[in-house]
Amino acid sequence: MTTDLLAAPAATTRSEALFARARAVTPGGVNSPVRAFRSVGGTPRFIAKADGAYLTDADGTRYLDYIGSWGPMILGHNHPAVREAVAEALPLGTSYGAPSEREVLLAELVTRLTGAERVRFVSSGTEATMSALRLARGFTGRKYTVKFRGNYHGHADGLLVEAGSGLLTNADTLGAAAPSSAGVPEDYARLTLVSEYNDPAALDALMAARGDEIAAVIFEPVVGNAGVLIPTPDFLAALHRVKDRGALLIADEVMTGFRLSLRGATGLLGLEPDLTCWGKIIGGGLPVGAYGGRAEVMDFVSPQGPVYQAGTLSGNPLAMAAGLATLKTLEADPGLYARLDAYTAALAGGLRAAAQEAGVAISINHVGSMLTAFHQGVPDGSIRTYTDAARSDTAAFAHWFQGLLARGVYWAPSQFESIFVSAAHGDEELGLTLEAAQAAYASLGASA
Ligand SMILES: *Cc1c(COP(=O)(O)O)cnc(C)c1O
Repeated sequence: MTTDLLAAPAATTRSEALFARARAVTPGGVNSPVRAFRSVGGTPRFIAKADGAYLTDADGTRYLDYIGSWGPMILGHNHPAVREAVAEALPLGTSYGAPSEREVLLAELVTRLTGAERVRFVSSGTEATMSALRLARGFTGRKYTVKFRGNYHGHADGLLVEAGSGLLTNADTLGAAAPSSAGVPEDYARLTLVSEYNDPAALDALMAARGDEIAAVIFEPVVGNAGVLIPTPDFLAALHRVKDRGALLIADEVMTGFRLSLRGATGLLGLEPDLTCWGKIIGGGLPVGAYGGRAEVMDFVSPQGPVYQAGTLSGNPLAMAAGLATLKTLEADPGLYARLDAYTAALAGGLRAAAQEAGVAISINHVGSMLTAFHQGVPDGSIRTYTDAARSDTAAFAHWFQGLLARGVYWAPSQFESIFVSAAHGDEELGLTLEAAQAAYASLGASA
């Protein structure tokens, strides 16, 4: 027996040891469920540091990252502009509980880029959507809201209804649906009506039957949280028609805002929502969310109006500094979105070819820097609803995911998520990814 073996027992990685300690003090060992790798198996990697397109875990293994902190890191990790902005703000104090200049600067930038007239900062996407719905109810005096099956809007009670990869229920009354979490009272869930994404007739029927009770329709303008789903032109038109019934249209751009364009997915698709929610990129990796829109609606928010909403750390100076640096860097690089698009399209083409070669059935949806490769044998682009996405072979996905991870590529650990390409992903990263993907598809093809 050598001292080496005693010093580093092969069976116990640092991630495993940390995960065991974490499980003893935190539910499931993680602070957000998808990080636990439950749907793909194996040990979640505990990350020690991140730089550019790469993560390094607690055991010193380097991974090419396709999660980007689930969206915020569009510039790549540890971007110098963001790091320097936070370093500059740090010695000036970390929180004031009073207004400061950076909040004004970021609000001016966000309103200029997005066309919203007023914006209110909060600390997460969940807070943004929750607050926007309260505002919609306060503004319209109505109590029902509509969401779409498989769309995720954070974890506020009224939005945990047929959310993300939650349970699928057949509604027996129009729009009625079940909570997708224990602890959400039926009485709350009853106020959220659910319709199918990309089904304009279903939305029209729901609005015709109950339109005058509906305060707002909230939606992901491009879905990331059921895997990537792209809206059809007919569905977009039906979304616009909800305004004719006096309901507010709320675009949840927490994932797509500043990712698909500086004006988000709504800018790309020519949508004009009444309210928009942001998160993720708007904080450049620090906790920021926001909601905004027309002044007439936003001025219902306290202290200007009667709808209460507050936050001890809202507009936090470090978080504002990171958000400002990120958005300014994006604005200063007009070719960036086209480069992200080109990388992602090349990734899609390479994955398609590698899967075909190995005899593995996949169907790819991608837009901008978002992509999902669903494990099912239908044509690319034909998966349009959560019901479609749910037909994917999750065991095949898990096998492929583990094959990538073993080869140093950290894909999203769930079939029903988007991956995120960053500005730090270049030719070298594309090559590494496709090599790993070929081997992972070959292994999956051979095991089938
Ligand atoms: C991530 C996400 C949220 C929730 O944001 P948190 O910051 O995790 O609370 C809401 N809506 C969409 C579309 C998201 O992708």
